[in-house]
Amino acid sequence: MRGLFQLPGPLRRELWAHPAKVFKRQYAFKGRPEHIGKPKDDTKDTLLPTTPARTRFAPSPTGYLHLGSLRTALYNYLLAKATGGQFLLRLEDTDQSRLVRDAEPRLYEDLKWAGLNWDEGPDVGGAFGSYKQSERLHIYHQHANDLLSSGQAYRCFCTPGELDALRQYNMENSPESSGHGNYNGKCNHVSASESDRRAANGEPYCIRFKSTGKPEVRDLVYGRYSRPEKEDDFIIIKRDGFPTYHFANVVDDHAMGVTHVVRGAEWLVSTPRHAMLYDAFKWTAPTFAHVGLLCNSAGQKLSKRSGDIDISSYRNKGILPIALLNYAVLLGWSPGRGEKGTSEIMDLEEMVKKFHLRFTKGNIKISNKLPFIQSKHMSRHLASLTEPGFESLYLPSMKETVSNLNSKRDASSGPLVPGLRTSSEKPAGTLETEVAPLDLASPKAHAYLLAFFTLDKKAFDGDIPKFVVRNEYLIWQPESDLLTTTLSASLSPFASLHLLNGDVVKDMKSEGSKTLSSETIAAPTALVDMFEAVLEREIPEEAWASSSSFALEDKINGLCQRIFALPLPGADGAVTPAPKLWGYHFLRWMLFAGKPGPAMVPSMLLLGRDEVLRRIKVAGEIARQLPTTQ
Ligand code: GLU
Repeated sequence: MRGLFQLPGPLRRELWAHPAKVFKRQYAFKGRPEHIGKPKDDTKDTLLPTTPARTRFAPSPTGYLHLGSLRTALYNYLLAKATGGQFLLRLEDTDQSRLVRDAEPRLYEDLKWAGLNWDEGPDVGGAFGSYKQSERLHIYHQHANDLLSSGQAYRCFCTPGELDALRQYNMENSPESSGHGNYNGKCNHVSASESDRRAANGEPYCIRFKSTGKPEVRDLVYGRYSRPEKEDDFIIIKRDGFPTYHFANVVDDHAMGVTHVVRGAEWLVSTPRHAMLYDAFKWTAPTFAHVGLLCNSAGQKLSKRSGDIDISSYRNKGILPIALLNYAVLLGWSPGRGEKGTSEIMDLEEMVKKFHLRFTKGNIKISNKLPFIQSKHMSRHLASLTEPGFESLYLPSMKETVSNLNSKRDASSGPLVPGLRTSSEKPAGTLETEVAPLDLASPKAHAYLLAFFTLDKKAFDGDIPKFVVRNEYLIWQPESDLLTTTLSASLSPFASLHLLNGDVVKDMKSEGSKTLSSETIAAPTALVDMFEAVLEREIPEEAWASSSSFALEDKINGLCQRIFALPLPGADGAVTPAPKLWGYHFLRWMLFAGKPGPAMVPSMLLLGRDEVLRRIKVAGEIARQLPTTQ
């Protein structure tokens, strides 16, 4: 009650009279007692330890890092960093039969890509090494021998065949206990001297721990937990001399000074076994937090088939590491602990600052927030992206994509035509009129790709192939035939322009569009001609060569404004009142077959005068073949 005496007078009086009411208001008490102002089920443990936590990520190299395991690694990392402690990486490679050849290097690579660096681990060492369980066998044997000598473990000489038969029997007779508590304790009755003799004779055996019952464990997320049935005498050292997961995990967590274990809820059922081992050795167990399993929207546990894909597939799609971490951290944890208004978009430092141990209990449905989170981090990232950054991060994959699409087009005569110019006479950034061999190594191609990336980077979500395809009209030069086909196919909204009736034209005129006659509005041909005339004759050649041309901008804007408010005629001839930006739409149709892309004028500058006029001429041909009014 110490802090209460610091309350201002009137509030203090009310507090004595109506304590519950006052506490509910959650005043920002000065020096408030610890239990006040926190949610009911909160305890000290779910905040943060006050001393540095040593945490670990302990993957088995039996597969690659995926979303679920990345999240586990991240929580452990954040806990260590938030308390000024250490984050360890330990490789749990005791199941030799399930090792995946390149899993170990891939784990390191993926964790490093994500930015989760470890303070101690197999590759960096540390005071408690080795951090690879297969290199610590002598330690496990020594501890198992200690348990043998103290009578807390025994050798089991049952053969795999006998154990299979026992499992089968258990399944048929007590299916409810199958899988977990199924050893009948037969070898527990072998005397110590007989056991020593049989072992000395070379008879194969495993070592089993003498279970002590049904221990209750305490978990930060799940509270008190115990298994319904008594634990059986589980194996701690297998017949191949390797320890089991349970044994090695406990021995190592203790030996490495691990204070907190955050891991997936699938390990909760194993924790009572771990607790018995800690007790047998008289060691203090670490604090456990079992975080809910990730599941899909149908509530099924994530698997390879249902979306728990390995980290490299996010990386290949251009997801930023920090976006993936930000997405992962929110799967069962929230920075504001339920309070509104705390930003969920965080870099790693912000996550460290906001970290606490209040996790959501139960399975976690994975959210669809990744694109949103990616876009937020992408804007931060692009705002600070330098040219060398672009060159190292994106240019190689951009070139690879262009070259792949190019070779596909060559093979299938598809819609993409190589056209990045290589000749030196024309300004950089324009396209050849003839199909030229693609020279992606040239400085001009490099400059061109940089220019168009810069131009459209607002639309970049990290996926280079998608970005390149979006901008295919800026990268390839469609041959005239192909252009004719694509423009004709995307023509429909403009074909109806020639159906405009006289009233609309009158309205347009009375609104000041003096230069437009009914014919000029009515026929797409006339619109094409207008654009062509202005672009060809009224804009000086030099204006095209500069990277930002006010002259071009002025003319284009003027032209577009003149048909700015042209209403859209419907199929039945009725005119919809909403004005449309016809000028820009029309221009986009002529130059890019109506495809969305970056801003018009800079795109035109990038294409260059010749290519712009060539495309407009093709559009003119198409327009001339349309049926005319009256
Ligand atoms: N090796 C276990 C795994 O693959 C570690 C579980 C734990 O963190 O205790 O997930």
